[in-house]
Amino acid sequence: MLIDAHTHLDKYAAELDSALEDIDRHHVFTVAVAMDVPSYRRSLEIGDECNLVLPTFGIHPRRAPEYVDHLSDLVPFIEQSPAIGEIGLDFHWVKESSQYPAQLKVLEYFLAAAREQNKMVNLHTKGAEKQVLDLLERYDIQRAIVHWYSGPMDILRALVQFGAYFTVGVEVSYSDTIQAIAREIPEHRLLTETDNPGGLKWLKGVVGMPADIQNVIDVIARLRNSSAEWVARTVHKNFLRMIKDDAWLKDIRAILLQSER
Ligand SMILES: [Zn+2]
Repeated sequence: MLIDAHTHLDKYAAELDSALEDIDRHHVFTVAVAMDVPSYRRSLEIGDECNLVLPTFGIHPRRAPEYVDHLSDLVPFIEQSPAIGEIGLDFHWVKESSQYPAQLKVLEYFLAAAREQNKMVNLHTKGAEKQVLDLLERYDIQRAIVHWYSGPMDILRALVQFGAYFTVGVEVSYSDTIQAIAREIPEHRLLTETDNPGGLKWLKGVVGMPADIQNVIDVIARLRNSSAEWVARTVHKNFLRMIKDDAWLKDIRAILLQSER
């Protein structure tokens, strides 16, 4: 079984059915993160259609200003969700620094909940890698997936030291920086993602599909002088280790263990 640890399945339009078929056909366990409340509701509906899809609730940093004054309204969604994401900070694409305090407040709210409820988190860190590291330390959250990391190498190493996992995604085919990062991530912290459907759309103008995870795996294998089978097996093992004692993800663990050969 392949692992796609960061996607936005709710953003598929007409292609959703073929995406779900793709997930089944290629056995891609898929974490479907949310940007906000409507996208979480949609992910839940999609999750009902496919047992390889794990919907998770979060408020994306870009949505933070809309939610920052109503955080307690989010409690039922947070409590219902077996993991947290997408959450984080974006000080790169979001240019208006007036929004940063709202981003921080929302992120801290979710990290406090994740700590209390012992849930893994799925993080966006663009241009704020050091701030996210500091907050993970402050809230003592080791079970963190850092998605599409593109920041400085010293912070990457500090995040590794702290315990974080990293998803390498579709940009690994096109970017020297991402290739260097894909080589640097230690074997036991490596995960894979597509950020579907938007990842490839942003890079190449085409709608990403679940089967594209195989290409990510192939490129990582080439970069690390190993085989695609080794990368897939390693990522599978890493994800299982991360959720080993997670009471919220027992069913997921069973599905992943079943697929182990
Ligand atoms: Zn995302």
